[in-house]
Amino acid sequence: MRTNFSILILILLGIFSCTNEQLGKFPKKHISQNNVVDYEKMTEILKNADKKENINLQSVGKSVEGRNIWLINITPVKLAKNPLKIFLFAQQHGNEPAGKDALIWLTKYLSDNINLMNGKIDLYLMPMVNPDGAEKNKRRNSNDADLNRDHLLLDQIETQILYTAYHKIKPHITIDCHEFNRTSQSFLEQGLEEWPQIMMGCGNSPLISDSFYKFGIKTVENLKKPMQYAGYNYCRYFVGGMPPEDENRYSTLESDDARNGMALLGSLSFIIESGIRRNAENPNADLGQRIDAYLHIFNYFINNEIFISETENLFAQERKSRDYLPVNYFWGKTESDIDSIMVLKDKEVVAINTANFMQTRIIKNNVKVPEKYLIPSQKCEIFKSLLKRHKIEYQILNQPEEYIVEPVKLLRIEKNFDKVYNRYGGRQITEQVEHKKMEFEKGSLIIKPKDNKYPLKVFYVLEPCNLFGLYRHEIFYNLIDDDILPVYRVVKQKLTGV
Ligand SMILES: [Zn+2]
Repeated sequence: MRTNFSILILILLGIFSCTNEQLGKFPKKHISQNNVVDYEKMTEILKNADKKENINLQSVGKSVEGRNIWLINITPVKLAKNPLKIFLFAQQHGNEPAGKDALIWLTKYLSDNINLMNGKIDLYLMPMVNPDGAEKNKRRNSNDADLNRDHLLLDQIETQILYTAYHKIKPHITIDCHEFNRTSQSFLEQGLEEWPQIMMGCGNSPLISDSFYKFGIKTVENLKKPMQYAGYNYCRYFVGGMPPEDENRYSTLESDDARNGMALLGSLSFIIESGIRRNAENPNADLGQRIDAYLHIFNYFINNEIFISETENLFAQERKSRDYLPVNYFWGKTESDIDSIMVLKDKEVVAINTANFMQTRIIKNNVKVPEKYLIPSQKCEIFKSLLKRHKIEYQILNQPEEYIVEPVKLLRIEKNFDKVYNRYGGRQITEQVEHKKMEFEKGSLIIKPKDNKYPLKVFYVLEPCNLFGLYRHEIFYNLIDDDILPVYRVVKQKLTGV
């Protein structure tokens, strides 16, 4: 009896030491790190790693204040013929440092031993997208712009650099690293703290294909066990207020962030959010734990054989184009079931039951994908530069032509946050008006969604019926004449040449 008990203890100790010293293939030794690596130190570490043969560091552009934005490519000794390209980036929000620090450690470990990564992986890292914000420990960049709300306009130099890198790499997988506040005021007032240490979400725009959405969720779910085994409080990324009165949901369905913005270009797209205790005396006292949790997830992406082969299969499948696409959608619920949201009370885990966890994407309206979009010549300059930033191809009319078009009328822009549906301000309320024959002058733009390399992006950027679109932004709002939006849907072939 005593012997069996001792063996059990030894086995438990074995598991304990395994889970506490190893993060998959990486050592778990960052626990004492409580200082954020700054821009200068990061640059020094990355330049050192660049001396290794399998690591290539380059500056792919400069921030508003002129700091380098670094891109690191890490390749195995023998790179597989068609490798899976993974693009990891962090710190679009300057005051969310853990993902960046974890990417620096990842670079260091792989420069010491490239065999810590599967030979089928070609890895690209951009650890500090917003170095100016990072240096000031501020969310926004130096133009006071939130970079992770700039993925429709691509108005900021840092987001433009991010997308230039995307188009150069053409990654299969994109992972955007953030941090959320575990100690938000509404929780603290109830004597509670948010439970998850780290969360992961996937591209969830209703525009992306079902197979990618389902595989994204499956990947998020598959990480539950290894994370739990390693001792991390992990769950699917959700947002919202204090349960059970307030609503919770799996983040936004909008596409002006990196997660959905890149999913619309065809990558399998994720977001990771580790929990920072913003209201604690020292929010970085547990920085090392957050870094460890990040590295554990990174290890899954670059080493899990099943994930790698299933992702290869996903990309081998043909993606069907769709005739109808949603323009109005929100999070809702179809059953009366009760969910539990875990919280911490005096460091103990407690479950709060709620009927207000909205987990189903509800589509309220679809429109037929038009054969073409047309933009009149006198409106096209601003559109040309937007389309170029998105790498959307267009043609220019070299003589006047008549088309039957479907104009869309703007009824109003709703500026306030919508408390009923928990939707952001800037909603475009539109209606399609009668078809009409219209002449387009020489110099007008023609964009064909289905001929484009990124048809979903074309639809998202140009479709005038979209609930969230361009016209919440003044520069595009000013192009509206008589309430008619400047992008016309073409529902039939052109009638005549003139
Ligand atoms: Zn963030």
